[in-house]
Amino acid sequence: MIITQTVSEVQQLLDKYRDDKMSIGFVPTMGALHEGHMALIDAARAQCDVVVASIFVNPTQFNEASDLEKYPRTPESDNELLKKHDCDVLFFPSVEEMYPSDTDTSIQMDFNGIDRAMEGEFRPGHFEGVAQVIHRFLDVLAPDAIFMGQKDYQQVRVVQLVTEQLNHRTTVVMVPTVRHEDGLAQSSRNLRLLPEHRKKANVIFRTLSWAKEQVSNRAIEEVKAVAMANLTIPGFKPEYFEIIDGQTFEKLEDWDHETIVACTAVWAGEVRLIDNMILRVES
Ligand code: AMP
Repeated sequence: MIITQTVSEVQQLLDKYRDDKMSIGFVPTMGALHEGHMALIDAARAQCDVVVASIFVNPTQFNEASDLEKYPRTPESDNELLKKHDCDVLFFPSVEEMYPSDTDTSIQMDFNGIDRAMEGEFRPGHFEGVAQVIHRFLDVLAPDAIFMGQKDYQQVRVVQLVTEQLNHRTTVVMVPTVRHEDGLAQSSRNLRLLPEHRKKANVIFRTLSWAKEQVSNRAIEEVKAVAMANLTIPGFKPEYFEIIDGQTFEKLEDWDHETIVACTAVWAGEVRLIDNMILRVES
């Protein structure tokens, strides 16, 4: 695996692959890698000739400085995992390299309200930060495909908007959420859970699975209310449990929609966990 830290270095390298007509798959991450990230690397490996991963803890998407500081960093095991999964290139830039003071990296786009729903409502400015860093990465790397996890469903939609509105030719591929055996979605944040919270954290997956069974049977308002109550166990505090249209992110009042997704954010002690489940997809 080749490790690059500068824009010019990674561009030179990728240009060589492009000259050889090789397709490039890109997996952006913030490090503290786990099996969830590896599912994205494996998907990129299966679909593209060259796999590029990035590790960059993007300051512009954190609305709380303490959250940024507390973000786990595990560089050695990250490298090992990436090598094991046959990643070709690791791009590991500094903040100055991503946001040079002499380059305008700001973006103008219309989020169609998606930046104000759910994660956007509770984390103001978060999706602008995500859109900014993804736009910058796509400008620098120009990959054929970008691989994003369903775990962050709303983020996948924001990245689709970035490619559409800011004219990138990159295809967005969504990879299903990887879970622990008990159903808890794998996340770098799980490392910070207290043991007693970790034991009970599968309440989130159980509640989402329960909601899926209620489709077209119970009123949506009732499902949301019961889900919020189910998630309110000692040490746990749900922030939201929403049932939305998977395209527009409109909050639904009835089940008469093609793509229906349940999304939730729950505090487990001091750790904020998010998860979602696709309740219905009609093709
Ligand atoms: P992060 O490092 O948390 O920014 O995540 C980088 C990418 O990995 C994002 O596209 C996430 O959605 C994805 N990801 C994180 N956890 C999982 C998981 N458990 N399953 C699938 N994808 C994941």
